[in-house]
Amino acid sequence: MKHITTYQGKRVFVVGLAKSGLAAARLLYELGATVTVNDQKPYEENEAAQQLEQMGIRVICGGHPLELLDEPFDLLVKNPGIPYSTPIIAKAMEKGLPIVTEVELAYEICEAPFIGITGSNGKTTTTTLIYEMLKEAEKKPLIAGNIGTVACEVAQTAAADNWVVTELSSFQLMGIQTFRPHIAVLLNLFDAHLDYHGTKEAYAQAKGNLFKNQTESDYAVVNADDEWVRTLANLSNATKIWFSTTKPLECGAYLKDGVLYWNDEKVIHISDIALPGKHNLENILAAVSAAKLVGVENEAIVRVLTSFTGVKHRLQYVGTVNGRKFFNDSKATNILATQKALAAFAGQPIILLAGGLDRGNEFDDLIPYLRHVKAVVLFGQTAPKLERVAKEAGIETVYHVDNVEKAVPVAYELSDPSDIILLSPACASWDQYKTFEQRGDIFVNAVHMLK
Ligand code: ADP
Repeated sequence: MKHITTYQGKRVFVVGLAKSGLAAARLLYELGATVTVNDQKPYEENEAAQQLEQMGIRVICGGHPLELLDEPFDLLVKNPGIPYSTPIIAKAMEKGLPIVTEVELAYEICEAPFIGITGSNGKTTTTTLIYEMLKEAEKKPLIAGNIGTVACEVAQTAAADNWVVTELSSFQLMGIQTFRPHIAVLLNLFDAHLDYHGTKEAYAQAKGNLFKNQTESDYAVVNADDEWVRTLANLSNATKIWFSTTKPLECGAYLKDGVLYWNDEKVIHISDIALPGKHNLENILAAVSAAKLVGVENEAIVRVLTSFTGVKHRLQYVGTVNGRKFFNDSKATNILATQKALAAFAGQPIILLAGGLDRGNEFDDLIPYLRHVKAVVLFGQTAPKLERVAKEAGIETVYHVDNVEKAVPVAYELSDPSDIILLSPACASWDQYKTFEQRGDIFVNAVHMLK
């Protein structure tokens, strides 16, 4: 870890704990900052706050009193989940207080270069693939972010010959000042999180922050098939490495006649790839590009691609019950992800389990993909909206149930042998579940109960 002196004696205000706030507060304290932590959760239930207080850090819990900002802070570290419109953050912005997220601190202290991956969909899958490819080639990768450990904890342990592979949400990218990944991957851009960002332009701008500090000596691995990605990439100073699932390229990663190429080298035949779903080819091309830039040889890439079958909750094959195949795609928290899941089973009879948190959007973009769905079982806040589009797509069998657990036996009753029974909710889980992982685990358990 780089022992930077930037924070010595600085008054830092950490807003929002969870894993990333806790790690950031600890790190700043070790770097000599005077840290004040403020979290919504009451002190008695707040284990993280109690731990920090024991270290001698000042904690204020149970709300975000605006008067705190009367104190002369030098910096605010914001938990990525807290919107900028929250009164305490809005007031800090008004006062001109610099606001960063934890990944910025991670970058500042880290001796290893970063590979940063973002996009509306496919971040975790691509991050995992890159990590696996680098590991297979003994390039000493460390994985940080959603899967694995918080970035600033990983950064503390990283040496110069490691690679920190991390996925970055638009929420994290909004709080970027100096963060400069050596390899930045932008997969796709789709209308997601509009409740947080307001407009697609604001969302795209946040994603574009990934390239903000890159120079020609860095790389931007970018999707040539996505118009928004192309626009953002063209604003970046990094050396562009394009990938495409639809057309051969002069250089970069692409598909031609069923073969995946890197520049003019054949890497693997698509039929030998273990990971299902056409959408995953996009993630694979991005991962191959990043791995090649690090110097991973084709043999290691092929070993990963012939054995890696996917990350849990992402089109995860759960099992077969009396001929019906069950898939857990609980991570499909938006329309694009569900479109991709339905497309992965095109031509096969599907029973779709969907619904969840209402973010204010409609679901009409699902209609073309619903045409080969034979029945839907709906739950959660968006069930009525999904019923409307299912009917418009010509689906006659529409059931409403209380939750995912109840949806499984209903779907089974409606099914015939060789049907696909797919949980791909097209919505976040927070109206009924703590996380998409909890929703997916409940689905998997309910499938096991059928057996
Ligand atoms: P993220 O971390 O960006 O949410 P994941 O890899 O966890 O992405 O995948 C989330 C969901 O998105 C999965 O349900 C999967 O079916 C879908 N998905 C994955 N990759 C893509 C892609 N490249 N394009 C569209 N959808 C995708």
